[in-house]
Amino acid sequence: MPTQTVERPISATHEVLNQSVPRVGLDEFEVNLPLLEGVERHGAGWAGERLHHAGRLVGSEDFQRWADEANTNPPRLETHDRYGHRVDEVVYHPAYHHVMRSAVQLGAHAAAWREPRSGAHVARAAVFMLLTQVEPGHGCPISMTYSAVPALRAQPELAAEWEPHLTSLEYDPRLAPACEKPGCLAGMAMTEKQGGSDLRSNTTRATPIDGGGPGGEYRLTGHKWFCSAPMGDLFLVLAQAQEGPSCFLVPRVLSDGTRNVFRLQQLKDKLGNRSNASAELELDSTWARMVGEPGRGVPTIIEMANHTRLDCILGTTAGMRQAVAEAAWHAAHRDAFAKRLIDQPLMANVLADLCLEAEAATATALRLARAYDHDATDQEKLFKRLATAVSKDLSRLECGDLGEVSFLERDQAAGELKQREVVLVFL
Ligand SMILES: Cc1cc2nc3c(=O)[nH]c(=O)nc-3n(C[C@H](O)[C@H](O)[C@H](O)COP(=O)(O)OP(=O)(O)OC[C@H]3O[C@@H](n4cnc5c(N)ncnc54)[C@H](O)[C@@H]3O)c2cc1C
Repeated sequence: MPTQTVERPISATHEVLNQSVPRVGLDEFEVNLPLLEGVERHGAGWAGERLHHAGRLVGSEDFQRWADEANTNPPRLETHDRYGHRVDEVVYHPAYHHVMRSAVQLGAHAAAWREPRSGAHVARAAVFMLLTQVEPGHGCPISMTYSAVPALRAQPELAAEWEPHLTSLEYDPRLAPACEKPGCLAGMAMTEKQGGSDLRSNTTRATPIDGGGPGGEYRLTGHKWFCSAPMGDLFLVLAQAQEGPSCFLVPRVLSDGTRNVFRLQQLKDKLGNRSNASAELELDSTWARMVGEPGRGVPTIIEMANHTRLDCILGTTAGMRQAVAEAAWHAAHRDAFAKRLIDQPLMANVLADLCLEAEAATATALRLARAYDHDATDQEKLFKRLATAVSKDLSRLECGDLGEVSFLERDQAAGELKQREVVLVFL
C-alpha cells in the first residue's frame, strides 16, 4: 500500500522560543577585562595586538567548530601498517591539526623563549589561556614543548641542537628526523604503573652504550603508563641509571630517518581531554641521551614539570573563565518568570560569585606567570617555587583528584564525577 505523505513544515509542532544563541564572533581578550587588565599590570601590554588577534581567533565560529570536531572525533592509534610493520602512529582529525597550527603560529609553546623580555611569560600565559579556554586538549603538547626548553638547558649541547626546532612557529605533524622538519614538539614520559607522584619508584632501566654520563648515549628498557601527545618529536624520559633516576632525551625518529623503538600499546579512554592522545608506552633498547647529571633525573625533569604545572593553573583558570562566560551569556539570553535570568536576584548572586572566583584565579595565574620571566629577582624565584605548587594543589583538591585513575572512563571515580552533576540539575 503506498504511504501517504503529509505536507507539513518541519517546525509545525512548535515554535522554538526563549533559547540562547551561540556565543561566537567575540574578541575573547577584549571581553575578558580581568585578563586584559592583568596583562597590563604585569608588564605585557606590549603584546596587546597579538592577544587581540588570538582573542578574535578563538572567538570565531571556525575555531569553535575545530574545537568541537577535535573532541568528538578523538585520535586513533595505528600500531601496524597494512603490511604488518610496526608504525606506532596516532591519527588525528584534521580539526585538531588546525587548532595545533594556530597555537604554534601564535607562539603559545615558545614566545617566551623567543623574546625573553619583561612580561614575556605573562604574554605567553595569556595566549595559552585564550586558546585552552576554547580547546583545552591541545594545551598538553603545547605546554610540554614550552616546558621542555628549560629542562633541556641542563645539557647545553642538546639544548643548542633542539631549541631552534622547539621554538619554531611552524607546525609540522609528520614523524621525520628533526633536520627535515621546520618545527618540532616535545613530550614527557615519567609516570609508570606503580607510581606517578613517586618518581623514584620508576623501574625503566638505562644502560650506557659507551660509558654514558651527561649527554652520553644509553639504551632504555621498560614501560610508561601515561605518555601524552605521543606523536611529538622528542620526549624527556625518566629511567634508572646505575647512579639512580636520571633524565633522558628520546627522539621518536633517529637522525638517519629510522624510527626509534617507541611502542604505543593503547590509548587511554579519558573522561575528558579527548582531542589529546595519551598512550601506554613500552621502550625496548630505545636509543636515548642523558640530560643533566646521572642520578639527578628528578630535579632535571621537575624543571619541565614545574612549567607544565604553571600551565595546569593557567588551563584551569581558562576553564573557569569559559564556564562563567557561557553561564552569564546563557542567563542573559533566557527568560524565566517574566525576567531575564541574569536579572533574577538569586541568579545574579550565583553568577557574581562565579565571576569573582574566575577573576581571582586570573589574577593569581598572571601574577605567577610574571615570576617565570627571565628578569625575576631571587625573591620572585622563591615565590614561584612555592606559589606554583600551592596553586596547582588547590586546583587539584577542588577537583577531588586521585591521580590518573580518577580520569579514566573505566574507573568508578570518573563515573561518579559525571553522575554527581545530574542530581544538581534535576528539579
Ligand atoms: C590527562 C592526563 C595526561 C597525562 N599525561 C602524562 C604524560 O604525558 N607523561 C607523564 O609522565 N604522566 C602523565 N600523566 C600522569 C600524571 O602525571 C600522573 O597522574 C600524576 O603524576 C599523578 O600520579 P598518579 O596518577 O600515579 O597518582 P598517585 O601518585 O597514585 O597519587 C594519587 C593521589 O595522591 C596524591 N598524593 C601523592 N603523594 C602524596 C603525598 N605524599 N601526600 C598527599 N597526597 C599525595 C596525588 O597528588 C594524587 O592526587 C597524565 C595524566 C593525565 C590525567
